[in-house]
Amino acid sequence: MPDTETTLDLPGFVDVHVHFRDPGAPAAETTESGLAAAARGGFAAVVTMPNTTPAIDSPESVRSHVRAAGGGSPLLLTSACITRGRLGREVADLEAMAEAGAAFFTDDGSWVADAKVLEEAMRRAYDLGLVVCQHALAPGLSEADCIRRDLSVCRATGCRYHVQHISTAEGVELVRGAQAEGLPVTAEATPHHVLLCRDDIVGDDGNYKMAPPLAGGEDRAEVRKAVKDGVLMFATDHAPHPAASKNCGYEAAANGIVGLETAIPITYRAMVEEEGMPVDAWADAWCRKPLDILPPRLLPVSFGRTRLAIGRARKVDVSAFASLSRNCPYNGMEFDCWPIA
Ligand SMILES: [Zn+2]
Repeated sequence: MPDTETTLDLPGFVDVHVHFRDPGAPAAETTESGLAAAARGGFAAVVTMPNTTPAIDSPESVRSHVRAAGGGSPLLLTSACITRGRLGREVADLEAMAEAGAAFFTDDGSWVADAKVLEEAMRRAYDLGLVVCQHALAPGLSEADCIRRDLSVCRATGCRYHVQHISTAEGVELVRGAQAEGLPVTAEATPHHVLLCRDDIVGDDGNYKMAPPLAGGEDRAEVRKAVKDGVLMFATDHAPHPAASKNCGYEAAANGIVGLETAIPITYRAMVEEEGMPVDAWADAWCRKPLDILPPRLLPVSFGRTRLAIGRARKVDVSAFASLSRNCPYNGMEFDCWPIA
């Protein structure tokens, strides 16, 4: 690529999967630092996950997050738990949390294993017109096992269902089939699952550890193909952790990597430069498709736009991140497409 810069002005990019450790672990990320990372990364809106400490599982906690958001830029929305305490036993007060401004429901970090509990939640979410998102991972079950079970509940209830951070060829196949069947099903791919596969893990580095883990090369190829075909949207799963919980070897490391400040360069590299995806279609996976799972009433008529500079290579420098955390394997990697703050 020539070393000349072109700029692109696009509708605001939206990240429907970020973890700000607020409340619970403000040294890893606060709402303020997370929003600064989102702005630096080129995002106009983000949706936080409810697996904070304590979890966002009540209308009061949803309300306090919505208040913290303050309607600034980037726009901050919050999701709320499916079950009380994310324990998978008792459906939370979905109606009151929707009223308080929850964008959708998820127990992210845990899969709702009890089909009866999920079915009750999906019946109630259906009545509210809100999406239920699942972290499709559980001990002893594959991603596809979890998705297959969830699809049967989706079929029974008609509720909209979204698969978070999909990573396997088999999982992608199920989502494709469900969409072809006409079920109200969406799914997201993360930047790390389109850029990397398990063969890319270098040494014993905890910065390559996340849930779901990096999969095989064939899985990555299917995830890329599904993004290209318009089956998947993007989301970062931005997961800040202090250095001590990541720089301790792969086995001992906490799950998750930060993603907001590298998501655009990485997905542009993987999808536009390597897969030949048209820029507009790639941008859709960040700006238009994520809006499909958000309630229009929570979105202002217009929010920020995303501007990109393409064609001048620049290296990732984690020391310059606005995020309070640095945990990712990208430091020093060079990319050609960067957001203009
Ligand atoms: Zn998750």
